[in-house]
Amino acid sequence: MNLILIAPPAAGKGTQSELICNSYNINHISTGDLLREITKKNDEFSLSVKEKMEKGLLISDDIILKLIKDEIINSNNNIFDGFPRNLEQAKAFDLMLKEINQKIDYVIYMDIDKEILEKRISSRYVCPNCNSVYSFNEPDHECSKCSVKLIKRKDDTLEVYENRYKVYEESTKPIINYYKNQGVLYCVDADGSKEEVFANIKKVIGEI
Ligand code: AMP
Repeated sequence: MNLILIAPPAAGKGTQSELICNSYNINHISTGDLLREITKKNDEFSLSVKEKMEKGLLISDDIILKLIKDEIINSNNNIFDGFPRNLEQAKAFDLMLKEINQKIDYVIYMDIDKEILEKRISSRYVCPNCNSVYSFNEPDHECSKCSVKLIKRKDDTLEVYENRYKVYEESTKPIINYYKNQGVLYCVDADGSKEEVFANIKKVIGEI
């Protein structure tokens, strides 16, 4: 099964991906996480990726498509979190999948208002080790899995969020119609607890 999650930034794609992976034994491919791994190095390429991410800008399609190709070559059971991010990536992805006799089974659009997400941004913390996402009103918490101190993502400020949301509206939103026309799009209400949203997703993909 190949499943794509589309959602505005900070809507809970990572959290839902984790829940789906645990229940459905499916491989989690997050382009954001793959890129954050790259930014841990100190060479020129890594620094240029880091700079763009910190501004909330998209990384070039060539880089992203190469990352995806390396991931799907060994797996046909994947959840794509944060990819595709624009029409060019979506079209190139279709061709890539066709070449290896794979297809997209579900595209789930997590529908939620921007105002709710803006409120969430200030309380969002992540584990620098396993990338799990948490919500706290104050700092100094540890990851319940890795016991590592949680951090704030550099792009989780209101200012950068505005940019990320603008990029989402301009570049990512058009892929919703693209997948609607392919007959694989499902819309779920993403305004709720992580369990409620997961229940909405399970209604779409079924209990396996
Ligand atoms: P995310 O973790 O999905 O919120 O992604 C964090 C940042 O990584 C984004 O704001 C972009 O700068 C970059 N990024 C992640 N996925 C993609 C993608 N598919 N195409 C281009 N840039 C991406």
